[in-house]
Amino acid sequence: MNHSPDRTRVLVVNSGSSSVKYQLLDMADGNRLAAGLVERIGEGPVADHTAALKQVADELSAQGLGIDSPALAAVGHRVVHGGTRFTEPTLITDEVLAEIEKLVPLAPLHNPANITGIKVARQLRPDLPQVAVFDTAFHSTMPEAAARYAIDTDTADRYGVRRYGFHGTSHAYVSKAVAELLGKDLAETHTIVLHLGNGASASAVAGGVCVDTSMGLTPLEGLVMGTRSGDIDPAAIFHLARVGGMSVDEIDTLLNKRSGLLGLCGDNDMREIGRRMGEGDQDAQLAFDVYIHRLRKYVGAYTAVLGRVDAIAFTAGVGENSAAVREATLRGLAVLGVEVDTVRNALRGTSARLISTENSPVAVAVVPTDEEREIATQTYRLVGA
Ligand code: AMP
Repeated sequence: MNHSPDRTRVLVVNSGSSSVKYQLLDMADGNRLAAGLVERIGEGPVADHTAALKQVADELSAQGLGIDSPALAAVGHRVVHGGTRFTEPTLITDEVLAEIEKLVPLAPLHNPANITGIKVARQLRPDLPQVAVFDTAFHSTMPEAAARYAIDTDTADRYGVRRYGFHGTSHAYVSKAVAELLGKDLAETHTIVLHLGNGASASAVAGGVCVDTSMGLTPLEGLVMGTRSGDIDPAAIFHLARVGGMSVDEIDTLLNKRSGLLGLCGDNDMREIGRRMGEGDQDAQLAFDVYIHRLRKYVGAYTAVLGRVDAIAFTAGVGENSAAVREATLRGLAVLGVEVDTVRNALRGTSARLISTENSPVAVAVVPTDEEREIATQTYRLVGA
């Protein structure tokens, strides 16, 4: 690596559908210099993503960390969908940007916001390398057996219908952090990562390489999520269209925005669901039970996929904070070599920690994810190389 000693900072921009998250990191010492979030884009004073990015630039300037700083080495951007084209962090050129735009039909909610973030940052600092880090990239190593849907191959290839997976930056970060926590070589570690946030996905990682993940063509497949159904018989869509008279767009909205925990009980926040369950609320209990049932199935499936599991790691909002979800997911799984220590599990913490018993053959960990730091690391590695 060949980094200039004066240019060690990386700005990470995570431009989502209705918010922009950012972090400024100094890669020389790993310090986080600034972090923030601009929310509710389009709803109030922040009219659009361009305005949001300008606000980020203003917030940084106000802290004396302006985007014009000569210490900045690069800007790293989260891009949700990289298709089959992007499997590595990529230096953004006009050609790369055009390719990312071509992928918009695969991620209509996410890629446009990512693209705007890139365009504004390029306008603000045209001299600076801008790097795209793709949510799908970590999963590009999945074998065809896991990545293919069992449909006509020509049709699948013509329309790019295959399993891409998402949250890859988080799965990459957490699987590395788990090996570190266990004091094991990453290449020797088999891990099931459960990223449980408002969106949720599981992945099976063998020696740092993703071999299966629960999200597919889009982030709709797999686990039960805050507002997304996860796995469902695709014939339910035909049924809702033919018998329910619903349009494709209505069904899209139903499955992505009005399903999951929200659809089952009216709340998508696990804290509220826990509170309601405490009051004996049956709908909240059902939502929790469906959520846990699906998770347990994936833990079993990925144990079979990996053959040998060294660790199961919980991360993201629910995974890091809900002892009840962790306990219920792994309860009674001694048959898989999993034993959660209920006292350790109940302890709160902000750093990576083990919650399994001393003798549990499979370690169980809680690992706070840090997608922005992982994007910064990958960005800095690329521009320094
Ligand atoms: P994320 O998408 O990773 O930011 O996760 C957001 C979700 O985490 C929220 O919708 C909540 O359901 C969940 N969450 C956050 N804090 C807690 C907590 N203390 N207990 C249970 N769930 C939580």
